[in-house]
Amino acid sequence: MISVKHLTKYYGDHLAVDDISFEIESGHVYGFLGPNGAGKSTTMNIITGCLSATDGTVLIDGHDIFEEPDAAKRCIGYLPEHPPLYMNESALEYLIFVAEAKGLRGAELKQQLDDVIRKTGIESVKHRRISQLSKGYKQRVGIAQALLGNPKVIILDEPTVGLDPIQIIEIRDLIRDLGKTHTVIFSSHILSEVQAICDQIVMIAKGRLVALGAPEDLQKQLLSSHEILLTTDAPANEIAQFFTDVPHITELVAESSGKFTQVQIKTDQEDIYALSADLFRTFAKSRWIIFEMTLRKGNLEDVFLELTDNLPADSDLELDFDDEEDEA
Ligand code: ADP
Ligand code: MG
Repeated sequence: MISVKHLTKYYGDHLAVDDISFEIESGHVYGFLGPNGAGKSTTMNIITGCLSATDGTVLIDGHDIFEEPDAAKRCIGYLPEHPPLYMNESALEYLIFVAEAKGLRGAELKQQLDDVIRKTGIESVKHRRISQLSKGYKQRVGIAQALLGNPKVIILDEPTVGLDPIQIIEIRDLIRDLGKTHTVIFSSHILSEVQAICDQIVMIAKGRLVALGAPEDLQKQLLSSHEILLTTDAPANEIAQFFTDVPHITELVAESSGKFTQVQIKTDQEDIYALSADLFRTFAKSRWIIFEMTLRKGNLEDVFLELTDNLPADSDLELDFDDEEDEA
C-alpha cells in the first residue's frame, strides 16, 4: 500500500530522517513509535506530501508522492500534529469546506459528511464553532476531515496528545474502529498506547528505523536475554560452583547483603520457566534455600528503553509499565 525507500530528510545540516525504508501493507493498524524528536512527524509529513524529502522515494498505492502528488494524496487522509482547523467556523462548515476541496459535490458530499460525522461521533456538536469544542472533539473533527474522500489510508500524528484520560480512551477506540475499514498509521511516543491499538509497530529512534513487526514478534526478535533474580542463603562465593550443572546461564552475578545473597542470572533460554525449574531442583538437592525468586521476562519496554537510551533528559519519554513481571 505504501512503500518508503531510503527516505532521508535534512533540515539545514540537521539529519532528521536517516535512510528509512519500510512497507505498509493494507488492512493493518500501524503504530509509529518513537520518543519526541525521533522523526515521526517529519516522516509522516513527507509520506502525506506536505513536506519535501532530501532523498528517497515514497509510493502510495503505486503513485509516487513527488511525481504524482494528486493521485497519491487521494489515497491518504491525514491528521497532522497541528491540524489547520478554522476556529471561527462550525465543525459542519469546516467539513463541507474540506469535502469540497477534496472534490466532493452534491449527494456524494452529503453522504460522506453524514458518514464521517457518524463514525467520529460529532453529530451533537457539528453546529458549534470549532473554537468552542473540547480538545477531544477538535481531534474528532480532525479525524472526520481525514476520512472525507474515503481514502484507503488514514494517517494520524500523535492523535491523543493533550487529551484527558477519558478522551484518550475514546480516541483509541475510534482508531481501532477505523482499523476495521482502513489501513491506519498513527504515531505515538507511548509504548503502551501503541501496543493497545496497533497490530504492527514501526519503531523509530534518532531518525532511524529500529524495528518493524507485530508486537509479539518484535519481542522475540529483539530480546535475547531473560533474567532471574533470586535471594538465597548460599554464600556468594559458592554460587558459581553451585550452578555449574544448570544449563543456559549466560551471566551470573552474586552479591552478599547481610546474611543473604542476591543473585542475578541471565539466560538465553526461550522458556524461562524451564530455567526456574532447574534452579529449584538444584536448590532442592542442596542445603541452601531460595527465599525469593523473580522472573523478569523480556518485554518491549526493555527494548524501547534500550533503543532510546542516552536521550537528553528533557526528551519527555513516557512509558507505562504494564504488569509484565511475574513473581515466583
Ligand atoms: P517527532 O515527530 O518524532 O517528535 P520530528 O519529525 O518532529 O520528530 O523531528 C525530528 C527532528 O527534526 C528533531 O530533532 C526536530 O527538532 C527536527 N525538526 C523538526 N522539524 C524541523 C524544522 N521545521 N526545522 C528544523 N528542524 C526540525
Ligand atoms: Mg511529532
